[in-house]
This record gives sequence, structure tokens and C-alpha cells, in this order.
Amino acid sequence: MKRFTTIIVGAGFAGIVAANRLSERGENILLIEQRPHIGGNSYDCYDDHDILIHLYGPHILHTKSARVWDYLSKYTAWRQYDHHVQAHIDGIDAPLPFNLNTIEALLPSALASRLVDKIIATYGYGARVPILKMKEQDDRDIKFLADFVYEKVFLHYTIKQWGIKPDEIDPSVTARVPVLISRDDRYFQDPFQGIPKHGYTRMFERMLDRRNIHVLLNTDYKEIIKSFKYDRLIYTGPIDYYFDYKHGKLPYRSLRFDFETLDIKRFQSVAVVNYPNDHAYTRITEFKHFSGQEHKKTTILREFPEDYEPGRNVPSYAVHNPQSLAILNRYKEEIDSLSNVVFLGRLAEYRYYNMDEVAEKALVTCDGFK
Ligand code: FAD
Ligand code: UDP
Repeated sequence: MKRFTTIIVGAGFAGIVAANRLSERGENILLIEQRPHIGGNSYDCYDDHDILIHLYGPHILHTKSARVWDYLSKYTAWRQYDHHVQAHIDGIDAPLPFNLNTIEALLPSALASRLVDKIIATYGYGARVPILKMKEQDDRDIKFLADFVYEKVFLHYTIKQWGIKPDEIDPSVTARVPVLISRDDRYFQDPFQGIPKHGYTRMFERMLDRRNIHVLLNTDYKEIIKSFKYDRLIYTGPIDYYFDYKHGKLPYRSLRFDFETLDIKRFQSVAVVNYPNDHAYTRITEFKHFSGQEHKKTTILREFPEDYEPGRNVPSYAVHNPQSLAILNRYKEEIDSLSNVVFLGRLAEYRYYNMDEVAEKALVTCDGFK
């Protein structure tokens, strides 16, 4: 029976960073992936028109962690890219996160100017205020603004994305897009941000390009795991699937992706335009903004949120609520009784991780192994 030091389930960001890191210590690694490609949800590829797309939705690497940035930079050069998003509100495309420029774009100038002065005086220039926090304010002007932002930006988008209202989901979700008391129109303010110059998949290929990493695609690990011996298992798939759903299924939101290639060079002025209040989709992404690719056509993506159903779509977002967290706790108790199995990543930890957070967690975890 073939023996590996570590078997890793899932070739997404978590599994690939772990494989790379452990291979540097001379471990013999088997990486098992059920999809026909590496990269997990961060996978990118050229479509039928030779335009570089992100097959599972727009992915922008942004981080505060110099450690993660320096680590990834060993495997890719970067295309300098600051992510810009606009929200289509009342027929106007205005910058997101909602900031001082957005107020001026959407509201009459005298009112806008009063609101700008008021929120700078209240929160200070540069503050980041979650919408649910802003809604708690008693001041009449700020309450008006908070209700406006809540209604125009968050309410209907969140109902589409999650099937419930912003105040019914974990507050950390809407806090990802705070109201910015500034004129910084970038979606992220992290000091490091960019797109791998030759794409995520090329970066991942380089991370896995080692003689002691063996990759098996198109394979659910349960089909073959018994054919191997191993000292350690790193599992990055859904936590409930590992335990055969014995304590129940954990809910996820998923997305239906609708790609379209148009016979024009440019469709929209920024990479992503959100549609909080119109249409069944949440946002449109135009990929050439990410890559800077020159092409006479352009490919866009509309995202339609839906519930996750195994076999039909992929689990994209963990849905945290009292019921799901109770189920999660039962699985966590099971994990405590396992030895030599590590649960890592967005699915295995059932968390709303960004790519850099997954990379950091994988590095810390692997460096902590004896
Ligand atoms: P995944 O990428 O999901 O990888 C898990 C892998 O395990 C998958 O390839 C899966 O096929 C495999 N697997 C599962 N079960 C099995 C099994 N039984 N056998 C074998 N293989 C299995 N993050 C950012 O930082 N910036 C962004 O702009 C950004 N945009 C996003 C947009 C969308 C629409 C979504 C859904 C997420 C976005 N993210 C973004 C988050 C990012 O996708 C995740 O942080 C990252 O993909 C997590 O990596 P992971 O390895 O934990 O999980
Ligand atoms: N959100 C919203 N309107 C927007 C953008 C975001 O209501 O125009 C809310 C929504 O609940 C969303 C969350 O903020 O799920 C986080 O947004 P983010 O852009 O971080 O989502 P992701 O890119 O992870 O899908």
C-alpha cells in the first residue's frame, strides 16, 4: 500500500498552500481534488473566446499581511490593481463602499453637503462605520443617511444574496462593506492588493510544481482514501460531508453563474457593478479590468444567488445562524476526538474567509506541525 506523509483533500487555496509548505519540509504529499482542475473557487481560465475569466466569480487578492503577500510573491508577479465597485442606484452608478463621494453622487447638493459635514464631525475623517451601527444613531441627519444607505444598498441586495434581511444575518457580513467616511473609492483599503499577473491558476501550478507533490484530479477522496497509508490528513472540503452528515446538513448559499461574451471592447467602467435594487442578479463583473487583457471582445458575468444543493452547484457561503452553529458545534466535538486530521479552510471550518486569511491560516497551521 502506498504511503504518504500527508494527504490533503481539496486543491483550493487552503490545500495548495498546505501542500506547498509541507513539501518544502520534504514531506511526500498526495493532493486529492474532486473537480477536474486545481484552484478551488479561486480558479481562473481562458474561455472559448480566449478571455481570462474567474470561473467561480470575481477574485481579488487583498491583504494586510506582508507575510502572505511576500509568500505568494514567490510564485507570481502581480498586476497592480485597485478594485473599484459601483452600485447602480436610482439609475446612477455611484462608488461602493458607500462614501462621501457616493453621498454627493446620489443626493441633492445642499443635503449632501450637510450630511458630509455631519458624518465627518460625528465619526472623524477616515472612519469605517458598519451600516447596522450607523442605524443605531439618534441624530436625525445621520439616521436619515443610515436609512437611505440601508434601503438603497443593503436591504434588497442582502435579500437576494442570502434570502433574508441584513439585520437577520451575522453583523460581520454587512460590516465587510462599511460606510467609509472618506473619498477613497477603492473597494478594499488593504495595503497589498493585486491580481496574479498570469492568473491564479498559473500561480497555483507553480506552487505545486514539486517532485514530492502528487495531484489527483476528478476524485472524491472517499473513493480512494482507504488505498493509502498516511501520517496526517488535511481536510479542506465541507465539514458535514466528512462526517457523512451525521449531525445534519450545514446550509450554504451558492451562485448560478451566467457568462456572456459581447462584441464590444468595454462593457462598464469598473470591474464590478452591483445591482442592489434591480434584476434578479446581484452584480455584473467584467473580467478584462482584472487582467488588463487587450481583446476586441469582452466577457461579463452575472451572479444569481441560490441555495446550495450537492451535485447541482458548489458551496460558496456558509450561512451562520443559531441552528447551523449548533450543528457546527456537534461536528467540532467530533473533530476533537480525531487525531492526525486537520480541518482547514472556508468549507472545513465553515467560515467566511477571504483568500489571504485562508493562506495565512494554512501557513500558520503547517508551520505549527512538529
Ligand atoms: P475552496 O476554494 O472551496 O476549495 C476547496 C476544494 O476542496 C474545492 O476545490 C473542492 O472541489 C474540494 N473538495 C471538496 N470536497 C472534496 C472531496 N470530497 N474530495 C476531493 N476534493 C474535495 N476571497 C478573496 O480574498 N477575494 C475575493 O475577491 C473573493 N471573491 C469571492 C467571490 C465569490 C463568488 C466567492 C464564493 C468567494 C470569494 N472569495 C474571495 C473567497 C475565496 O473563494 C475563498 O477564500 C477561497 O476559495 C477558500 O479556499 P479553500 O481552499 O478554503 O476553499
Ligand atoms: N452587500 C450589500 N450590498 C452591496 C454589497 C454588499 O447588501 O452592494 C452586503 C451583502 O449582504 C453581502 C455583504 O454585504 O453579502 C458582503 O459583501 P461582499 O462584497 O464582501 O461579498 P462577497 O464579495 O464576499 O460576495
